[in-house]
Amino acid sequence: STVAVTGGSGFIASWLVKSLLQRGYNVKASVRYPNDPKKTNHLLALDGAKERLKLIKTDLLEEGSFDSLVDGCEGVFHTASPFFFDTKDPQADLLDPALKGTLNVLGSVAKTPSVKRVVLTSSEAAVSFNGTPLKEDVVVDESWWSDPDYCRKNQMWYVLSKTIAEDAAWKFVKEKAIDMVSINPAAVLGPLLQPTLNTSCANILNLISGAETFPNATYGFVNVKDVIDAHILAYETPSANGRYLMVERTAHHSEVVNILRELYPTFKLPEKCSDDKPFAPTYQVSKERAKSLGVKFTPLKESIRETVESLKEKNFFK
Ligand code: NDP
Repeated sequence: STVAVTGGSGFIASWLVKSLLQRGYNVKASVRYPNDPKKTNHLLALDGAKERLKLIKTDLLEEGSFDSLVDGCEGVFHTASPFFFDTKDPQADLLDPALKGTLNVLGSVAKTPSVKRVVLTSSEAAVSFNGTPLKEDVVVDESWWSDPDYCRKNQMWYVLSKTIAEDAAWKFVKEKAIDMVSINPAAVLGPLLQPTLNTSCANILNLISGAETFPNATYGFVNVKDVIDAHILAYETPSANGRYLMVERTAHHSEVVNILRELYPTFKLPEKCSDDKPFAPTYQVSKERAKSLGVKFTPLKESIRETVESLKEKNFFK
């Protein structure tokens, strides 16, 4: 059968397209820049792409732009959304494409009766940040929602973009009786298929590229291949529903640096934290729902190793 993937060129979406082709699906993937070889060559070179992959140009901000993408599809995977932190215009750069893009994709789905299920790539960002102090004994689960006011107050624009987009998506699918499942991963690591650098792998590249300090921040981490399994299982398992957090575990950047030091003793790694405050605590994230779907979790050390090996292979650093 035929499925659609939005944002096909991206880190996660490239793996998703690869995996869907491997499983025999016909795939229609949306891209912003169909004439940019850096955004398309790696997709066109995938096994099965010649016969079963079609790239279609779309615009997240344009209503109806996704009509031709989802036309004839049984499944729609919506991954396209800006993922970066540095912006002078959060409304235009992050919030509009995330929110309007999601509603435009779902608007096209609402007009397309062939679509049986939508899988939304949301984020742990839409779950964990409501002002409750995150610390060792706290277990975040899918009942949590990040708080838009808290995000605005703390200028967490990417987190806000994912929160309002997922929230609007659930309201829209309820009203239109669309079957949707969301996958909520934390920072995704693993090998890159695309030739360009994405934000979550850039975080590791920064640490191994001669940075003097590591950030005083604790992130959740997960392997890209496990995140892809979650997307496919969410689509193919009839009883899948609601949100699925995908977090192997959280780690402070000091620990990430320690793991890098174990794996690569000759690397020059940052020795100091970027500030003198106590380290941001680790916290727990429930794996219960993800495990019930049948996903496995690659240990963080292996995800870091795969990321570094891929960054080396692609010549992002010497
Ligand atoms: P990438 O930056 O590699 O992919 C982002 C995708 O969104 C690309 O296809 C990109 O298109 C598209 N996109 C971004 N901004 C726009 C825009 N303004 N208009 C149209 N398309 C746009 O990152 P990831 O693969 O990591 O992210 C994919 C999804 O996964 C996002 O929804 C992200 O929020 C989510 N996610 C990612 C996590 C991570 O750690 N990587 C963790 C949790 C969730 P183009 O290639 O043309 O730039």
